[in-house]
Amino acid sequence: MKLEIWQGDITKLQVDAIVNAANKSLLGGAGVDGAIHRAAGPELLAECRGLGGCETGEAKITKGYRLPAKYVIHTVGPIYTGSHSDPLLLGTCYRNSLRVAAEHGLHSVAFPAISTGAYGYPFEDASKVAFAEVRKWLREHADYDMRVIMVAYSDSDYAFYQKLLG
Ligand code: ADP
Repeated sequence: MKLEIWQGDITKLQVDAIVNAANKSLLGGAGVDGAIHRAAGPELLAECRGLGGCETGEAKITKGYRLPAKYVIHTVGPIYTGSHSDPLLLGTCYRNSLRVAAEHGLHSVAFPAISTGAYGYPFEDASKVAFAEVRKWLREHADYDMRVIMVAYSDSDYAFYQKLLG
């Protein structure tokens, strides 16, 4: 199975890369961003300072430092507005993160539920976009060995992921 779900703290995962739901500064924040920086250590912030920020939908890679994951792919989700651009931008985050992962020869990537915390994207809507985009990418890159782990933080989020996985 190339698409998997998992419940818990993404910073614990031993994978090639975990994705960070960052903000445009890439200098850390609350939520999963804060957890990743705390677990990775100050070397991560030092590398991020050299990246010059990140636009919404873009993805940039750093090393994982003290994390069990080898790399962190930082992407900036859209702040939810309810407009038609929200799902497009959110989908772009997943697509660009997977593109960067494949460009670096990585074979396992774990995603948090981008934009569904502080950025206000309703979880179920965001998850449908996320699963559709990841499934599309995996179909389009069927010849590439890539394992994608969708990480749910809460019990109810995980229950919805189980439904989406079918
Ligand atoms: P955003 O600003 O993109 O909304 P948040 O970090 O506020 O990012 O929330 C994104 C998602 O990450 C939320 O669903 C939240 O429950 C989840 N989350 C928070 N901490 C962790 C963690 N340590 N591991 C996995 N998911 C987490």
